[in-house]
Amino acid sequence: MTQHFVCLTFDYDNTSIAAVRGEATPTAISRGDFGMTGAARLLRLLGSRAIKTTWFIPGHTIESYPASCQAIVEAGHEIAHHGWTHRPPASLGRLDEEAELVRGNAAIEALTGRKARGYRSPSWDLSPHSIELLLKHGFVYDSSLMGHDYLPYQARDGDVVTLQEPVSFGPDTALVEMPISWSLDDYPAFEYTRTPTGILPGLMNAEGVLANWWADFEYMARHYDWGIVTYTMHPHVIGRGHRLEMLEALIERLTAAGAVFLSMEAAVAEYRRKYPNGRSERGK
Ligand SMILES: [Zn+2]
Repeated sequence: MTQHFVCLTFDYDNTSIAAVRGEATPTAISRGDFGMTGAARLLRLLGSRAIKTTWFIPGHTIESYPASCQAIVEAGHEIAHHGWTHRPPASLGRLDEEAELVRGNAAIEALTGRKARGYRSPSWDLSPHSIELLLKHGFVYDSSLMGHDYLPYQARDGDVVTLQEPVSFGPDTALVEMPISWSLDDYPAFEYTRTPTGILPGLMNAEGVLANWWADFEYMARHYDWGIVTYTMHPHVIGRGHRLEMLEALIERLTAAGAVFLSMEAAVAEYRRKYPNGRSERGK
């Protein structure tokens, strides 16, 4: 039986990105505030299609924009972990990384009544400690790695890469990896950002991004009987009119092609049905 799934995922970063950069001017804050408008528009769009999605929300956002986050919960979407601050684990030591997991989970538990099942690292850069810490804190899945585009797999722990030796792959773990890609992320495509080290140009034409995003689903539908495409979006980025028009057009095309929209947690359950012993992405 052919099964093609789509996970629409939203990283609800808002002002947490500016906070990491030490940007606290009114304009920088307002840029994050726009996420509230974007989130409200997204909830309307998703609700009109009865689509359930996953929102990775930093504790910084949960505690800064509580009413907006409450609305996401009330609409029935999954809330997952995205740090408390928006600092990537690779930039932290083990103690600080674990503190982020604990504090972020406390914010999520206060919001939803349960701890997160899923984790996505801020800025997609896990540390050598992340997999072990996620398992220790009861996470079921991660969504920060790029080892496949359509097929989840068991996250490995303890890989060793050196210049002069072949890669030494660590063992697969119980943590399910729901892989992602910068090419299916709205941030590099659309967000114009000046940083001390340069400019991220963004501002791509939405029709071009739609064509790219659709083609990744189309390829899966043509070449795989079973698979999942994960799109990553940010309410303060995708929430602009022309981009929401693009997202709505994408949803219509995907729906017409038979895509089944799932939260990431539900997609993990489908993966376990399909691969009861797990899938390995180890070098062979
Ligand atoms: Zn983020």
